Amino acid sequence: MDIKNGFVGAVGNTPLIRLNSFCEETGCEILGKAEFLNPGGSVKDRAALYIIKDAEEKGLIKPGGTVVEGTAGNTGIGLAHICNAKGYKCLIIIPNTQSQEKMDALRALGAEVRPVPAVPYKDPNNYVKLSGRVASEMENAIWANQFDNLANRRAHYETTGPEIWSQTDGKVDAWVSATGTGGTFAGVAMYLKEKNPAIKCVVADPMGSGLYSYIKTGEIKIEGNSITEGIGNSRITANMEDAPADDAIQVDDREALRVVYQLLRKDGIFMGGSTGINVGAAVALAKRMGPGHTIVTILCDSGSRYQSRIFNTEWLESKGLAVNL
Ligand code: PMP
Repeated sequence: MDIKNGFVGAVGNTPLIRLNSFCEETGCEILGKAEFLNPGGSVKDRAALYIIKDAEEKGLIKPGGTVVEGTAGNTGIGLAHICNAKGYKCLIIIPNTQSQEKMDALRALGAEVRPVPAVPYKDPNNYVKLSGRVASEMENAIWANQFDNLANRRAHYETTGPEIWSQTDGKVDAWVSATGTGGTFAGVAMYLKEKNPAIKCVVADPMGSGLYSYIKTGEIKIEGNSITEGIGNSRITANMEDAPADDAIQVDDREALRVVYQLLRKDGIFMGGSTGINVGAAVALAKRMGPGHTIVTILCDSGSRYQSRIFNTEWLESKGLAVNL
């Protein structure tokens, strides 16, 4: 028998999918870790589970307690599922620029959702800082603090990284991933580098994020913007701080959209925008490295979370990003 114990038992152990059309395009093995197949629908289920387990182990939350988080959506969805499965309440503070689908999903899950204006991190009313303050003012509540809570990247160091290593029999030349909190990139990179320091670890970055310039020059410089959600950052989080990043690749929205539509129309895989950045960077890296290399990246969440945006022609046109379907 192979039975998972509830929602929590079903997190992780996702398939690694060969992205055939991109392998043909580059002559490399481009492999996507199918994180959209986690039971909460995204890569963030792993971090959400580790953050709650860590708080339980440290005695920071008791039955009936509340998990509070500032999140662009997927972490909140993961937390809300796990809170339901474990009997906690969930309070999510979310920038009001995020897709309606994600807010609707959180409300349907029974989380309390507080949309707030999207203001920069340095503003005291930034959603992340606000969530920390709200949690500190509540009884029996924890602040998940995904950006700076190292339980986040530990999830990927202890699960995603080892899964990738065993699924490829250690035959990996490069690891590429965009970063929001940096938990996925850093945790996997740290594990793979320990196994084989020759594995190239590359950050994929959307326009409007400071990671690319930071890795290239040591300085955070922000230019442009992106329609992708949940990735990019204007600061180096604790999860990213000592991550072994060998290089960074910037991917613009046009390329991310080309990739997302090719994934859907040629490979039959329906993904959100951050996966477009990931696979776009993997393709760019494959072209630099030359044929015959194996590059692993993340398939973060399903396109169904962005139906009203990157899969809606009018929305794309309003952003000047019409796609030739
Ligand atoms: N893609 C999506 C859609 C996300 O929501 C996130 C997390 N915000 C990421 C990628 C990046 O993951 P991480 O926080 O581990 O860097």
